[in-house]
Amino acid sequence: TSFGFKEVHEEEKSKMVGNVFSSVASSYDLMNDFMSAGLHRLWKDRLVAKLHPFPGMKHLDVAGGTGDIAFRVLESINSVSHSALRCGVTDEVEGGSRIYVCDINPKMLSVGKKRAAERGIDGSPVLQWVEGDAEALSFPKGSMDGYTIAFGIRNVTHIEKALSEAYRVLKKGGRFLCLELSHVELPIFKELYDYYSFSIIPAMGEVVAGDRDSYQYLVESIRRFPKQEVFAKMIADAGFQKVEYENLVGGVVAIHSGLKI
Ligand code: SAM
Repeated sequence: TSFGFKEVHEEEKSKMVGNVFSSVASSYDLMNDFMSAGLHRLWKDRLVAKLHPFPGMKHLDVAGGTGDIAFRVLESINSVSHSALRCGVTDEVEGGSRIYVCDINPKMLSVGKKRAAERGIDGSPVLQWVEGDAEALSFPKGSMDGYTIAFGIRNVTHIEKALSEAYRVLKKGGRFLCLELSHVELPIFKELYDYYSFSIIPAMGEVVAGDRDSYQYLVESIRRFPKQEVFAKMIADAGFQKVEYENLVGGVVAIHSGLKI
């Protein structure tokens, strides 16, 4: 069975997305590793490398419940700070940096907070956990140096609203980066990928997470998401400049970026 998503009213989409992530929250990491053969870790590393985090930065990671991106940004800031400390450029480690993890689902935020505790960084003032909607952010205009959204924008009801909110909260010179499952166009690889996503992923969801429907929804939402060029145009329409994208694994995922100038 599937959610028959196309027929559902928009208001119900948000509720359904909430249910999907509540039901997958606990098995989330395990499934990510299974489905991507561990590659999602490298894709997230790449996203954060492109962000070039720096000490003192104010960063917002939207749809970031599990903390995967935030922890990487924090590590990157710390490694830059430690080299600056060694060179005598600064005398403090985190230098007023703030990383806000915003997610609509409190259960996903709980997973992230638990993981922060396991890493012994739950007391850090740098990490701030905020329940909120990508379409109506609670942060002031021009308050962030960076904005990331990883595997999140596909689930947002009005993508344009999320993009214009990203633009609003960024400072001039601020960077927008989005990691998302995208579209494969290469012949043969496309057929293999289709088979993998339509047949294998829902079956894996059933076996590993005991939840076929949520993973069926995942596959359908990937198909409906705009192709790379179309999404790049939407980012530019939100006001961003220097919009680019990089395909990883032939377009299985893409990293889109833009600058607020
Ligand atoms: N960024 C994390 C990662 O890459 O591992 C989590 C990605 S998870 C697939 C998608 C997340 O988007 C879920 O935690 C879900 O609660 C969140 N989400 C869905 N719709 C949202 C919205 N409108 N605003 C904020 N978060 C949203």
